[in-house]
Amino acid sequence: KGSDGKYLVSLIEGDGIGPEISQSVKDIFSAAGAPIKWEPVDVTPQLRDGKTVIPQESIDSITRNYVALKGPLATPIGKGHVSLNLTLRRTFNLFANVRPCKSIQGYKTPYDGVDTVLIRENTEGEYSGIEHVVVDGVVQSIKLITRQASERVLRFAFQYAEDIGKPKVRAVHKATIMKMSDGLFLRTAREVAKDFPNVEFDSEVLDNSCLKMVTDPTPYNDKVLVMPNLYGDILSDMCAGLIGGLGLTPSGNIGDECSIFEAVHGSAPDIAGKGLANPTALLLSSIMMLQHMGLYEHANKIQSAIFAVLAEGKTITGDLGGKAKTHEYAEAVIKKL
Ligand code: NAD
Repeated sequence: KGSDGKYLVSLIEGDGIGPEISQSVKDIFSAAGAPIKWEPVDVTPQLRDGKTVIPQESIDSITRNYVALKGPLATPIGKGHVSLNLTLRRTFNLFANVRPCKSIQGYKTPYDGVDTVLIRENTEGEYSGIEHVVVDGVVQSIKLITRQASERVLRFAFQYAEDIGKPKVRAVHKATIMKMSDGLFLRTAREVAKDFPNVEFDSEVLDNSCLKMVTDPTPYNDKVLVMPNLYGDILSDMCAGLIGGLGLTPSGNIGDECSIFEAVHGSAPDIAGKGLANPTALLLSSIMMLQHMGLYEHANKIQSAIFAVLAEGKTITGDLGGKAKTHEYAEAVIKKL
């Protein structure tokens, strides 16, 4: 927090629609009087000693500020490029990916009243990147599960449930088949649960969760779901579909010290620069960020204005069936403030 009473937050505007949707966040935050000062951060890769790295200044900025808001980054296709998203995740050890999944009034989807949270282990599992050729035509990919990473994300999930007032945590797994790896995750969950007597704990096999969620998601409303990496990747996108898709889905990547909040969607090159992008997902991510910083009053104020504009349905962007430009939607939110 600076001498002006404002918190410095690193802002990675990102590629494609990133600058347009970031502008909406900046305009709305300034109109709402949110005590945030943005520090622009450039993560364009640089070549150092023959390796692609993100600029040290960007790492220093996030390390200094502890909190960052991030627009989408386009991943260049082709060999030799590391994904910038993966680089950020590794650099800051962002071990938990948090995806709230909440229906938005005014935007009709097959389900009403969805309100659950998914937490995905973000550092290991099938995405450890340990793959090799055994012999020609046979490859092996190793799923790594450790007690340490499992315990870290599970503790976070129980604490998060307590903090947001959800009474239950459910671990999603396939310990029926992967007895050792998912078995360890599940055993660790049972052990961690003992330290949170106010939170009820149970578990469910992944395929069962998928079937039940698309049949009726509302029984999941009192729960935080926590799971290993791959399951979380897939299930969280399925849940995004339940509430109306990519333009509305926020997320938070929580690390040991630093956290990065971002929309789930990509850089949408097909609509970039045309003023058509829906900034809601990045806005809702910035609200998660305010909550993470304990700035609940500003978070509630901005969130209510967004929900009011969406519920009215008059000034909404094309992906939601409206005609408004990005800046017109932002102006409507500002009017509601
Ligand atoms: P995408 O999410 O960018 O786009 C998919 C479709 O959804 C497009 O039709 C797009 O116009 C639409 N869309 C996405 N966000 C929207 C918004 N806010 N408002 C209105 N419409 C929106 O996915 P993609 O095309 O597969 O990926 C494009 C690039 O983004 C790739 O380089 C990819 O690697 C990158 N990407 C980055 C992230 C990230 O930074 N977290 C996530 C996913 C993809």
